[in-house]
Amino acid sequence: MDAKHQSPHRRWNPLRQSWVLVSPHRTQRPWQGEVAQKMTPSAAAYDPQCYLCPGNERAGGATNPAYGSVFAFVNDYAALLPETPVPMETEAPLLKAEPARGLCKVLCYHPDHSLTLARMTREEIRPVVDAWAREYEELGRMDWIEYVQIFENRGAMMGASNPHPHGQIWSTEFLPDEAAAETKAQREHLALTGCCLLCEYLATEKAVAGAEGRIVFENEHFVALVPWWAVWPFEVLLLSKRHVGAMPAFTSGERDGLADVLKRLTTRFDNLFETSFPYTMGFHQEPTDNKAHPEWHFHAHFYPPLLRSATVRKFMVGFEMLGMPQRDITPEAAAERLRGASEVHFWPRTT
Ligand SMILES: [Zn+2]
Ligand SMILES: [Zn+2]
Ligand SMILES: [Zn+2]
Repeated sequence: MDAKHQSPHRRWNPLRQSWVLVSPHRTQRPWQGEVAQKMTPSAAAYDPQCYLCPGNERAGGATNPAYGSVFAFVNDYAALLPETPVPMETEAPLLKAEPARGLCKVLCYHPDHSLTLARMTREEIRPVVDAWAREYEELGRMDWIEYVQIFENRGAMMGASNPHPHGQIWSTEFLPDEAAAETKAQREHLALTGCCLLCEYLATEKAVAGAEGRIVFENEHFVALVPWWAVWPFEVLLLSKRHVGAMPAFTSGERDGLADVLKRLTTRFDNLFETSFPYTMGFHQEPTDNKAHPEWHFHAHFYPPLLRSATVRKFMVGFEMLGMPQRDITPEAAAERLRGASEVHFWPRTT
């Protein structure tokens, strides 16, 4: 690799308008920290104790239908509620608070308890893509909902309470901080240059080739890359090639393309350390505030915590909590590792 990236430097994240510190020489330091358990996929297709499996009773008392594909329901333990809230009383100007309304749903991807996106087929992931698009559209159409955040926490390391393949959809009457920061950055870039920030970024990445490149792979409609400003060791940004603000605008071919790119990326992740690779992933789409958002470009972020093996994770502590995020392995080296990972899963399916 080019020596210019091997000394300590900081990189600008134009989407978040913040810096990340890159310290490639630190990857040589000895490791005496936490060693976590290696995670293997669950073996049982049905778990009588699982509150997401078909036909089972949930903690709230409802019973799941005998669903055969995807299944969505309102979270029994929702962090936000749709009821009109009680006005807040303020005791001092500094102690600011506002009522926060929202609607939290759970989406089961598949009836089989043992599967993950990585071990589902493209044909099985396509209905999940359609469900995401449908939920975004239905929730976004409610006049009080300004933003729909679709995400998935995968693995106990990322706080997932249940291995059953599922994700969450939190919709809110306000714009959350990450979406607000990216709206501001994309709007400013469009106003300043006349170009979409992420269309320009994608063109920039496509012009870089070889070991310097950060593109992991692409299909007809999407690109998977380790962004220039990645914070997590194997962080990946999925970008649509077409300038689209949200999933409902995707063609049938683009929806197949999204299923394909999700399958291939999660398989590479699992194969990297031969483990069920933990991550938080989510889609960033235009706000549903009934305003035009020509600045917004659809994308997904994957934030996986693993650093150098199935058992050694990255921690955000010390300088990162008090100063700024920092990484050791360069984004270029991470992209190289992911390019080298197989798209055939190390743990084949029997069902
Ligand atoms: Zn289950
Ligand atoms: Zn764009
Ligand atoms: Zn984003």
